[in-house]
Amino acid sequence: MAILVLAEHDNSALKLDTAKIVTAARAIGDEVHVLVAGHQCDAVVKAAQALQGVSQVLVADASVYQAHLAENFAKLLVDLAPSYGHILASASSLGKDTLPRVAALLDVAQISEVIAVVSADTFVRPIYAGNALETLQSLDAIKVMTVRASAFDAASEGNNAAVTTLDKEFEAKTQFVSQSLTVSERPELGNAGIIVSGGRGMGSGENFGMLEQLADKLGAAVGASRAAVDAGFVSNDLQVGQTGKIVAPNLYIAVGISGAIQHLAGMKDAKVIVAINKDPEAPIFQVADYGLVADLFEAVPELISSLG
Ligand SMILES: Cc1cc2nc3c(=O)[nH]c(=O)nc-3n(C[C@H](O)[C@H](O)[C@H](O)COP(=O)(O)OP(=O)(O)OC[C@H]3O[C@@H](n4cnc5c(N)ncnc54)[C@H](O)[C@@H]3O)c2cc1C
Repeated sequence: MAILVLAEHDNSALKLDTAKIVTAARAIGDEVHVLVAGHQCDAVVKAAQALQGVSQVLVADASVYQAHLAENFAKLLVDLAPSYGHILASASSLGKDTLPRVAALLDVAQISEVIAVVSADTFVRPIYAGNALETLQSLDAIKVMTVRASAFDAASEGNNAAVTTLDKEFEAKTQFVSQSLTVSERPELGNAGIIVSGGRGMGSGENFGMLEQLADKLGAAVGASRAAVDAGFVSNDLQVGQTGKIVAPNLYIAVGISGAIQHLAGMKDAKVIVAINKDPEAPIFQVADYGLVADLFEAVPELISSLG
């Protein structure tokens, strides 16, 4: 049976996560379809068609899908479900909001945060904040699963998949009122190649300015620990960790972060981890590839000036 991937987009651009979920879908089977539900989203459809390994793009273009309400998406996915053996979405806010509804409506188990595909019915996912990996086999006829995008490479482009237009409009009782988005020039945390992250050791929101300078020199995104977010230093969309974003950049620089297990759950898959902490016993040094025992208020300005 075919595999259906829910595309994530903002009606004008396809998110990189979708290309990564397509790679996970390809590990399950050959017939991969992508569902683009949105409004006036032609550019997104083209981008989905281009992904290697996608054989069909299903397009539901209607005003009810403009705001990407999980309630409406879930109804659409449930309607399409009988033709599919697997329904996949990124383990993002949208995926985590939508797929459990789909699983409940189909009366199957929700499989969350898959990081590896063993076979068409067997998957690996982290449990206990990433301290153990669970291999599970699903006996459900339809597998409904969120996939951790950071665990898969993005499918390459160059394809031209067929398009099927769906005439299906499902509207739940939820109404979209408004949204307020954080606008940033820096790369998105989830897809950044380099992340400079600050913790409680930063001492204040103003001091995060130092990390922003460093991030700008490196073309990096800025992240934070939950303690830094809870203290009001930065907004909570920057939080990395078990209850924040899960990231796997090429380089993660942790500044004034102790390395609590819940923080590590969000960043320990980074390829290279650098830690700056004045406490040589800080647990972050156990996962760091490079550790600098130093006062961050001396080390970070030095780093910025040596980067020119
Ligand atoms: C259910 C649950 C979910 C959670 N989810 C998350 C999550 O998603 N993300 C997350 O981050 N946390 C999460 N936490 C919180 C987590 O347990 C820690 O409390 C938090 O990560 C600590 O943040 P921190 O390292 O910034 O602060 P601290 O642990 O206080 O560490 C601050 C560090 O800064 C160093 N420091 C201080 N001053 C300086 C200086 N001048 N120079 C150099 N170093 C300095 C100190 O040595 C220390 O190591 C969660 C907790 C729970 C219970």
